[in-house]
Amino acid sequence: MKFSLPLVTSAVLIVAGMAAYSFAFDPPKDSEPAATSTKSSKANTLSKSKKMSDEPIYNKLTPQEQRVILHKDTDRPGNGGLTKNKADGIYICKRCNAPLYNSTHKFMSDCGWPSFDDEIENAVERKLETDGSGRIEIICKNCSGHLGHVFEGERLTTKNIRHCVNSSSMTFIAKGKDVPKVIKRESDSEKAGEVGDKPSASTSKANSPIKANDK
Ligand SMILES: [Zn+2]
Repeated sequence: MKFSLPLVTSAVLIVAGMAAYSFAFDPPKDSEPAATSTKSSKANTLSKSKKMSDEPIYNKLTPQEQRVILHKDTDRPGNGGLTKNKADGIYICKRCNAPLYNSTHKFMSDCGWPSFDDEIENAVERKLETDGSGRIEIICKNCSGHLGHVFEGERLTTKNIRHCVNSSSMTFIAKGKDVPKVIKRESDSEKAGEVGDKPSASTSKANSPIKANDK
């Protein structure tokens, strides 16, 4: 069977015309969602980069140090790390360099972790554990990194207190050696106003004058 050429041509034209009509009155629906998703992925990128700039750049941590300092894990007990260190010097926060303990505070408790019966003033913050154990967690006051726990009434020293601190949370600086600069968060403005746990990116003396409550 054969169609004449004009017939075929007009049939093609009719079909094409119908397609054009339906396209004009029913535009493809996927054009809009595509545009929206491009927008939202842009927004994600923006909020991510903003978040990162709010964080001070703390010292780089090994996976084990991250587990302990950021996720409250505990070093294995033993005589490794700083547990048996008796040298003169200072113990600073591994994450932010804040001085935490003097070697004169250290004593040998045989508990398997470095032990101190005192702390450098204003360096360590105490928090009641929320796990119902009644234990008191100790954290670095500057960067809130986990240090360990504090126990009282054990009668191990005359001060009757034991800061049980993970070696992973501290760096020991021997007497006479340079102590690295503390990587500070804006704790001043934080104390005065908002109680957030987001440290911000200023380092040491770059703190601007306190503005909170200055309405
Ligand atoms: Zn710290």
